[in-house]
Amino acid sequence: MTDIGDRLEELRGKGLHRRLRLVSGPQGPRVLLDGNPVLLLCSNNYLGLADHPRVRTAAAEAAMRWGAGAGASRLISGNMKPHQQLEERLAEFKGYERALLFGSGYLANSGTIAALARQGEVVFSDELNHASIVDGCRLSRAETFVYRHRDVEHLAWGLREAKGRGSLIVTDSVFSMDGDVAPLEDLVRLARHHDCRLMVDEAHATGAMGPGGRGAVAAAGLSGEVDVVVGTLGKALGSYGAYICANGEIVDYLINTARSFIFSTAPSPPSAAAALAALELLESHPHRVDQLRANATVLRKALSAEGLAVGGGQTQIVPVMVGSAARTMELCERALERGVFAQGIRPPTVPEGSSRLRFTVMSTHRSEGLLGAAKVIGETARELGIVSSTPASTELMAA
Ligand SMILES: *Cc1c(COP(=O)(O)O)cnc(C)c1O
Repeated sequence: MTDIGDRLEELRGKGLHRRLRLVSGPQGPRVLLDGNPVLLLCSNNYLGLADHPRVRTAAAEAAMRWGAGAGASRLISGNMKPHQQLEERLAEFKGYERALLFGSGYLANSGTIAALARQGEVVFSDELNHASIVDGCRLSRAETFVYRHRDVEHLAWGLREAKGRGSLIVTDSVFSMDGDVAPLEDLVRLARHHDCRLMVDEAHATGAMGPGGRGAVAAAGLSGEVDVVVGTLGKALGSYGAYICANGEIVDYLINTARSFIFSTAPSPPSAAAALAALELLESHPHRVDQLRANATVLRKALSAEGLAVGGGQTQIVPVMVGSAARTMELCERALERGVFAQGIRPPTVPEGSSRLRFTVMSTHRSEGLLGAAKVIGETARELGIVSSTPASTELMAA
């Protein structure tokens, strides 16, 4: 038995030790972090709905009407009206026959994959998929083929090699640490050709892209072509919990076999009611999604102009690549001292050597704040020798 203290020391030695920071107040653009005022650039409260008055009121009223907790799993006695109402609205919003709530996105992914992929079958997973997908693959007794990030050729090769044993292709739509988007059209084509199901995790896409915030699948015109769409209530929808959308048969099957659904207490009535209120706000005020996208463009451009290595994509997830874990955390801490809070992301969340500062913008950020933050990050990165060049904007002005 190795000593836990030794294991912690090993993490510290590798620059991989983590600690909790305390945020005071709601997840707005500005918060107190461990008592110091900072610009918050790593919250997934993308549309500012977690602290919206209507959403708070819905949660409070649901607590008064139905209680704080659901009291049991859905199949025992925990199936309540807020769950049913929310499922109906989510299915309609995403253009699917049915939706099914789970306790969280982690539980939705792990439970659904483990239920859909069985022993003797092969599940195909993008190498940069979220940890909850990775764990779902491990939980299923199926073999897992991990294909290179967004590499359709590699996936096609794996599907051919599986010789008909392939049962599920699974991918993030917007990748959580990189902010790029999966090649959904190709994935649909390959899934059809090889008689595989396709499951797409829209945790960072719902409320952030597509018509009215319906996600990347809807943006690509592929609703209904994807067998299972996953979404979380904890990000753009400002609450807690998650859901999958599918046809009635798959939902019926998951109710009967997904262990994270069966053996876990139903989401609390206040979280379900809050998510429903958030969904209604999203439907009545879709311009929040446009504002989010506009803010993402402002921050991406400003960080690139500082000469920083901004990762691909156009989404609200903006990674600034650094490389080493220790240097990433140094950049993170120095930026914090100057009032900018973006979380440093290290292994095992991302592959070795690809540590980064990961920014997420919200629709509630103001351009001035985003531009100021980019300047701070640029200056700090130059001081630390992470970028050596003068800012591109300065060069342009000189030219
Ligand atoms: C956040 C996230 C999850 C987990 O969702 P929770 O509701 O927070 O448990 C799943 N998949 C992806 C891609 C995510 O980013």
